[in-house]
Amino acid sequence: MAAIVWFRRDLRLTDHTALLHALANHRDGVIPVFIFDDAILKHPDCGPPIVAFMLGCLEELRDNLRQAGGDLIFCHGKPLTELQKLAIETGATAIYYNKDYAPGACERDTEVETELPKVGVSVHACKDQVIYEEQEILSASKGEPYTVYTPYRNAWNKKLLADFGPDGPQPLTTGKLVFPPTLKQAANVGLPTAEKLGHRLTHELAIAPGEKSALTMLERFCDRTIHTYHDTRNFPALPEGTSKLSPHLRHGTLSPRQCIHAALAAKSARPTSAKGADTWIGELVWREFYQQILFNFPHVETKPFKAAMEPLEWSYDKKHFAAWCEGRTGFPLVDAAMRQLDQTGWMHNRLRMIVAMFLTKDLRIDWRWGERYFMQHLIDGETAQNNGGWQWSASTGTDAQPWFRIFNPANQSQKFDPQGKFIRQYVPELKNLPADQIHSPPPTKGYPSPIVDHAKAREATLAMFKKLPKKKD
Ligand code: FAD
Repeated sequence: MAAIVWFRRDLRLTDHTALLHALANHRDGVIPVFIFDDAILKHPDCGPPIVAFMLGCLEELRDNLRQAGGDLIFCHGKPLTELQKLAIETGATAIYYNKDYAPGACERDTEVETELPKVGVSVHACKDQVIYEEQEILSASKGEPYTVYTPYRNAWNKKLLADFGPDGPQPLTTGKLVFPPTLKQAANVGLPTAEKLGHRLTHELAIAPGEKSALTMLERFCDRTIHTYHDTRNFPALPEGTSKLSPHLRHGTLSPRQCIHAALAAKSARPTSAKGADTWIGELVWREFYQQILFNFPHVETKPFKAAMEPLEWSYDKKHFAAWCEGRTGFPLVDAAMRQLDQTGWMHNRLRMIVAMFLTKDLRIDWRWGERYFMQHLIDGETAQNNGGWQWSASTGTDAQPWFRIFNPANQSQKFDPQGKFIRQYVPELKNLPADQIHSPPPTKGYPSPIVDHAKAREATLAMFKKLPKKKD
């Protein structure tokens, strides 16, 4: 009998755990399906950039499946209903998919796992999106999930070495793809446009979607930049200072196993520059850290990780928020970063920290407003990482920035964009200013004055945190 492979955020054919298991266990082959779900598409977190990137990945996946003699079935509706219909149409007796750890996804998948076996369809959920999931890494002392990154990373590294040796996990090789004749009979709504899904994109995608682009980018990064990553990663003006693989990891056009394996190979090829590869692997571990936080502490999706931070009296000033969104706060690096997001759908990590800290500590605006705006505008918008990054910046999270340490936006700018190259790229109003003026510009035609005084804003934020009831943390 054939099996359905339900593609979700794993839009590739190589090293795809669910696809491999389905092919191994079902001689009649696989029925690949992707379901457009309005619960996701109409959610306020969903925006045109991520939808456009996903559609690009889906187009390539469909073409690759067609080239292999199959196809990708597209359905639009409630996943449980669509999967049931497809199983009946094609006679499939099993469904395979790769697990997702966000609360909404877990709820949806639990329903599928409960209901489909009742109609004779077995359900197989596979680990694929991370190397270590859920509660695979627990603290040795208490047997509980880690809530601080460094000990988590140490335990993660130790386990990786013990489980896979120095080369890390081997990516899985997909064998011959086999498709049953019933694949052609299944109803297929076809690949819709972004407009049809209610998401019109007004800019080009900064990073090309699809598995081919992902593999090329990974290869190039591991040949070159990874060796100096520890030095280059904080400088947004460098075009290749980081991998820019986040949208590919988000949409699963690349697996974490492929990344770790390639990074360890680069490290063994050039042991003298191991620091770069180790630092990069450390970032992939941040990704897994936040995935396990979201899974084990789902309340973070809407509330501070630390209950003691709940009474914080955030601002809901719409004018300030609009200035931040539109990149006209009068703080050049903040504005350049927000314009990069608006124009490309991606933002450098250092800048994400700076703008998030600015929104929460200079404007004292509720981190959840910034978190949502990011989700709506990023091509890599991902609940676990985005929430982790926002709560870190707002000092409400697990391994958070201490609330009394507040970035000075002008100092950050001098340190990480010393010549103002990045600022000039996105804030043309300031392009003729010399480097020593660009970080705190004099009144300049067409560019706003700072919307707050950083020193005063800092004092007000410290006062807000000091007002919290004591001894609750
Ligand atoms: P690289 O530096 O090449 O790192 C490799 C990979 O490691 C990344 O692709 C990403 O998957 C992971 N990674 C890197 N840094 C982090 C980090 N700090 N936390 C968790 N994982 C990390 N990342 C997202 O993928 N989606 C988001 O929605 C997201 N929102 C963020 C919001 C804020 C406020 C902050 C501070 C960070 C956020 N990040 C998010 C993390 C990080 O900024 C991006 O992953 C990174 O900028 C992507 O660029 P890159 O692929 O070149 O990263």
